Amino acid sequence: MSENKKNLTTSWGAPVGDNQNSMTAGYRGPTLIQDVHLLEKLAHFNRERVPERVVHAKGAGAHGYFEVTNDVTNYTKAKFLSEVGKRTPLFIRFSTVAGENGSADTVRDPRGFAVKFYTEDGNYDLVGNNTPVFFIRDAIKFPDFIHTQKRDPRTHLKNPTAVWDFWSLSPESLHQVTILMSDRGIPATYRHMHGFGSHTFKWVNAEGEGVWVKYHFKTEQGIKNLATDVAAKLAGENPDYHTEELFNAIENGDFPAWKLYVQIMPLEDANTYRFDPFDVTKVWSQKDYPLIEVGRMVLDKNPENYFAEVEQATFSPGTFVPGIEASPDKMLQGRLFAYADAHRYRVGVNHNHLPINRPKSDVHNYQRDGQMRFDGNGGGSVYYEPNSFGGPAESPENKQTGYLVSGVAESVSYDHHDHYTQAGDLYRLLSEEERTRLVQNIVDSMKPVEKEEIKLRQIQHFYKADPEYGTRIAQGLGLSVSKEV
Ligand code: NDP
Repeated sequence: MSENKKNLTTSWGAPVGDNQNSMTAGYRGPTLIQDVHLLEKLAHFNRERVPERVVHAKGAGAHGYFEVTNDVTNYTKAKFLSEVGKRTPLFIRFSTVAGENGSADTVRDPRGFAVKFYTEDGNYDLVGNNTPVFFIRDAIKFPDFIHTQKRDPRTHLKNPTAVWDFWSLSPESLHQVTILMSDRGIPATYRHMHGFGSHTFKWVNAEGEGVWVKYHFKTEQGIKNLATDVAAKLAGENPDYHTEELFNAIENGDFPAWKLYVQIMPLEDANTYRFDPFDVTKVWSQKDYPLIEVGRMVLDKNPENYFAEVEQATFSPGTFVPGIEASPDKMLQGRLFAYADAHRYRVGVNHNHLPINRPKSDVHNYQRDGQMRFDGNGGGSVYYEPNSFGGPAESPENKQTGYLVSGVAESVSYDHHDHYTQAGDLYRLLSEEERTRLVQNIVDSMKPVEKEEIKLRQIQHFYKADPEYGTRIAQGLGLSVSKEV
């Protein structure tokens, strides 16, 4: 017997005498309740799952680092971006959106692209997607939108009628729908896609001057996508294809990398730009705001334990550090609440104490207690503020900067907004082959829609984006572009 052999123990540390035979009343007798090791083993097993994420349930994660390659201190005082060559450790989680934890990777769906930078000023989470825009611009529509992406409550099946009904009645979705139905709607791997912060954020420099900012991670592996039929075959043969591919690439030393760029908009431009720069269904044209290089992200280490590091990782777009702030983007404002709230429910109020979420910088605050508080809970230190005992105190130099708001406080409709120009720009940017596949994907997806009214309404949106786009989809569905619906 090896000298290092460890005793199997219960969770309270007592050696277990028998882990193969439960205690019974004799050879044929019933099992005894006094076998508390058995009781604990079964009870713990029953509780092995935490609730899966309502969205982005299926995912894969990796560790890596970010290295600054360009001086952006004119725009932000964020310490992890303060010096060319500076490296910051990070953790990333890629995901699909609509499927459950065991669902297939190679489906047509946006991909989550969530990065946690462990900076010296605390964690910074950039919780984005592989698309620069989103389906809706107001968080009040999010639960309804996701209901249409999930299973029908009666049949427990995906429901294309619900999907297209919602989209046709929410024309702001058209731009993202066009991206989703294009070739980039099914990436070849997690490594062969871009990442975007999607929202507009605010950067603030050491002088307190702000700019609006958008983030673009450009894959160094190049964009590669899966043909729809290949993806469908893979979904059956290997539902974990993307998860496996990422793991194997990193395990084999083929470390994926992305260049991070930003677009910078002077604050005052927001008042006059031809699109609302805080509308997440729109991009800022790169002709107006060209990409500025910031740095490089490299993924070089697989998680040691999926549950501990990937399932328990909690990202929130509100996890800011000094130098990076929120914008009035309505969808972002909703996410600032919803993500942290989801994690308090799913993982617990002390989720930021878990090793994967814990900042690598020191944490000093007056939060105490709560379920699963497993550090010293502040010991005997002062537990309220203000105090006369030298407890941690605010640092006014880290106050967030203000921005001017105006208007009437009410539920503001966006119906007058242009839903069509950028979707059309994207259509016109595609090659003839890409357009043909886009139209085919949409036609295939819309065919099962039960109500003709929904199809006609949606065809009008495509038509308004580009007459050719709408006409081709109408033809594919055996319908014509209606002026009526
Ligand atoms: P630009 O020509 O300056 O930029 C076009 C952008 O589109 C590039 O980022 C390019 O990224 C991307 N792109 C190229 N081919 C495709 C494709 N097949 N599917 C999806 N994206 C593609 O034009 P604008 O900035 O004026 O934007 C025009 C349209 O491009 C927009 O309406 C939007 O739909 C789309 N787009 C714009 C982005 C932006 O931030 N401005 C970002 C992504 C898309 P790449 O170099 O990787 O091919």
